[in-house]
Amino acid sequence: MSAYDEFQRRSVEAPEDFWAEQAKLIDWQTPPTRILDTSRPPFVDWFPGATINLCHNAIDRHLPARGRQAALIFVSTETGVERSYSFDELHAEVQRTAAVLQALGVGKGDRVLIYMPMIPEAAFTMLACARIGAIHCVVFGGFASGSLASRIDDATPKLIVSADAGSRGGKVLAYKPLLDEAIRLARHEPDAVLLFDRQLAAMDLTDGRDHLAAPLLERHRDARVPCTWLESTEISYTIYTSGTTGKPKGVQRDTGGYAVALAASMKHIFDGRAGETYFSTSDIGWVVGHSYIVYGPLIAGMASIMYEGLPTQGLDQQPDGGIWWQLVEKYKVSVMFSAPTAIRVLKKQDPALLKKYDLSSLRALFLAGEPLDEPTARWIADGLGVPIIDNYWQTESGWPIITIANGVEKKPSKFGSPGVPMYGYKVRILHESTGEELTRPNEKGVVVVEGPTPPGFMQTIWKDDRRFVDTYWKTVPGKMVYSTFDWGIRDEDGYFYILGRTDDVINVAGHRLGTREIEECISGHAGVAEVAVVGVADSLKGQVAMAFVVPKDGAALADDGAARQLEGEVMKRVADELGALARPARVRFVSALPKTRSGKLLRRAIQAVCEQRDPGDLTTMDDPAALEQIRQLS
Ligand code: ATP
Ligand code: MG
Repeated sequence: MSAYDEFQRRSVEAPEDFWAEQAKLIDWQTPPTRILDTSRPPFVDWFPGATINLCHNAIDRHLPARGRQAALIFVSTETGVERSYSFDELHAEVQRTAAVLQALGVGKGDRVLIYMPMIPEAAFTMLACARIGAIHCVVFGGFASGSLASRIDDATPKLIVSADAGSRGGKVLAYKPLLDEAIRLARHEPDAVLLFDRQLAAMDLTDGRDHLAAPLLERHRDARVPCTWLESTEISYTIYTSGTTGKPKGVQRDTGGYAVALAASMKHIFDGRAGETYFSTSDIGWVVGHSYIVYGPLIAGMASIMYEGLPTQGLDQQPDGGIWWQLVEKYKVSVMFSAPTAIRVLKKQDPALLKKYDLSSLRALFLAGEPLDEPTARWIADGLGVPIIDNYWQTESGWPIITIANGVEKKPSKFGSPGVPMYGYKVRILHESTGEELTRPNEKGVVVVEGPTPPGFMQTIWKDDRRFVDTYWKTVPGKMVYSTFDWGIRDEDGYFYILGRTDDVINVAGHRLGTREIEECISGHAGVAEVAVVGVADSLKGQVAMAFVVPKDGAALADDGAARQLEGEVMKRVADELGALARPARVRFVSALPKTRSGKLLRRAIQAVCEQRDPGDLTTMDDPAALEQIRQLS
């Protein structure tokens, strides 16, 4: 048995011993005496009775040893601001912010909705909430009023914290009008709104409700706000899933379990060390931003880079297309985290940009959020010369479920596989209709997690225990297991492969095909930059596959002959590799694909449009023009 296999085995066979040991990675006010309570399955209480504070673990405990070391490094290529905050400075900023929150009436258990761009004040606010025991609910900045309003109603915040504007590719997006409209649409009314003014857009203030942050912060410049100790099982935050498959779910997270899970993952998975720099390109609006921009790196005593801007050159010629690698060189980043969708964007530009900078500090690049296709993985692996580590998880889990635990044993990666189940997770593959466990290699089924779920995993759906149980734990007949709603297989070496979402299966003439497999095959064609495959209703065959392809060069978009040739090649490739049944009925060329704001393909919307149905809630969509293009082609 390899060192990691032994580590994993111990974690699931003796979870109490295992997690008692991991709990020592963080500071407690009252250390745990009990490790877990599973008396109400599928709910789990981690470290009941122990008391802790997340902000203390992220900041205060590091002050004696590394007060002057960088903690948060903010870089905006949108506004040209670049500023580093030491742990001491972060400590001061967070206390000021906490004092302002308290002055506005926020206390333990109150919700604070954060609707902000990627600026340090957003991180200060999250940490300030954690400091005083308020529950933060970060909503991705720039979401439309409708989606913001429904989240306001769900979270019922006492306070909303926002800013005048965000900026993307040099284009300013004013937040205040969106926020005002959202508050008008919502049934719930917040007591107060706190606004950071970046001087990017004018703001109309509502008397008695809206407060500018600057004068309040000035008043509390020297504030000392002690940490409020929470029970381990008390709520740290809520966050919504991406909404790729339907109505977003409000994921609720505890405090102690989350802190332990993050500290353990920083050590065992990311192999990040105190004093080094971590760079996650995600956004604070997503779970990756919570776990691996704000809390994880800080808990580990690392500096964390917070970057506002595009990864490649925008229309305004900003930034340099090598900006990420420039940051890696400048701040000696040792661990980096991004998403396949971002790497696919980089892939469209000059690979020389990868070679321009000294990347010798970098030990690994972690990618998550979507399937990592082999051509993309190879391209970035060749370009960087460091291990590319795919990791599979969900908003619900809070940290990776399947990956390589780089800090325990540097097992080799396999292309197309995120790796093996992480410690603490009992991952199984079950037959979708009988619920029977599939144990032979390469049998395809639903990926599930057996309880008790590990620390850091969602506690429940905010205010809706019943929806939590019904949605996640009752889908497999006769078994109470957590469904990930993803298909997967496990190979003979125990490596998992994620084959797409359970609702991304199409049925062609009685044969079930995964759209992911067809996409993988098509994306292997050298002329293809990106592809989405959906099943479309067909009176003869039940369903047929439709492929929407973003070609690498524009010829297939501009010229019919080129389009026909590429279409023919793509069809032949699928027929050769997967069989004629899987061959798409049509291949259409588009300049962009519709995605969520977190960069995930919106197959459900594409499918609806192809079938002339209402695509439903599109408020999480990034680029409406991309869907419109598909509507016209279908
Ligand atoms: P919703 O649940 O609201 O429909 P969502 O599932 O896209 O949205 P997230 O929690 O952001 O919301 O995404 C988790 C999902 O992303 C996983 O269930 C899986 O489908 C996909 N995913 C994440 N990482 C990977 C990966 N490394 N490989 C393959 N798929 C991944
Ligand atoms: Mg999901």
